[in-house]
Amino acid sequence: MTLGDLNKQLIEILSTCLFVESPVTEVRLILSKLLKKTPSSFLGLSLQMEIDREVKEAAFQFVNERKNGRSVASILGFRDFYDLQFEVDDNVLIPRPETEFLVEYVLNLNIDKEIRVLDVGAGSGTICVTVAKHRPKWNVEALEVSEKAINILKRNVDSNNVNVNIIEKDFFNFEPAHSYDLILSNPPYIPTEDVMQLLARHDADDPMLALDGGSDGLIFYRELKEFAEKFLNIGGLLIMEHGFDQKKSMHEIFNSALLCVVQTLQDYAGLDRVTIVKKIG
Ligand code: GLN
Repeated sequence: MTLGDLNKQLIEILSTCLFVESPVTEVRLILSKLLKKTPSSFLGLSLQMEIDREVKEAAFQFVNERKNGRSVASILGFRDFYDLQFEVDDNVLIPRPETEFLVEYVLNLNIDKEIRVLDVGAGSGTICVTVAKHRPKWNVEALEVSEKAINILKRNVDSNNVNVNIIEKDFFNFEPAHSYDLILSNPPYIPTEDVMQLLARHDADDPMLALDGGSDGLIFYRELKEFAEKFLNIGGLLIMEHGFDQKKSMHEIFNSALLCVVQTLQDYAGLDRVTIVKKIG
């Protein structure tokens, strides 16, 4: 089979899936990976080129997995995030542009001194690795409970050449040895029932553990509040990503005798997405 024919057949398969926005681009990414080309050098290949049987079979398999709801990032095995590249698979949340917005806010704080930073639920490492890369003076720790996610996190720390101290523990039983100046988190925040529906509809293929925020989606935020009251230094910040409809809950949870909400920021799509809380007492 020629490259031209294969390309055409794969695009036809993906064109039947409503959730695939750009079948042409996705097929190009998948074939580039299999032919070991960059997506731009792929465009220079001759459409008459004969394709090996293994490549053809692997391409059909990937495209069928995509049709069944697997994300392109997990098929390709990587995803660009901010200015870095992250290895991903089905054991971690696929990095989202909304989280780049949180990272950008953190870097814009322009803190140049040595501070202690904790990323709660680090997953593939998007937040902690990007922050450590851009602020090498910061002492960055990453908390993650999933052993499978930790394997990927370790590889992303190494491949991006950063210094991050990984702690394999459940946040709900975590007693740190010291307090922090910054606590960052993109915790699971989707109510359990909605996660079930998302997964059943193939609207997401992220692991349940990375999405499920308990019956009302807020259990991690309540725990983050308790944690920040104990382990955030006075004047320190807790910066969290959350669902577009959770701003009110954030303000209810985080305005307390010891904490106060500084602001909720909207992401590039204009949706409430990141809330910043300060330790005041
Ligand atoms: N911190 C990681 C990310 O933002 C993982 C978040 C999660 O698994 N909920 O990608």
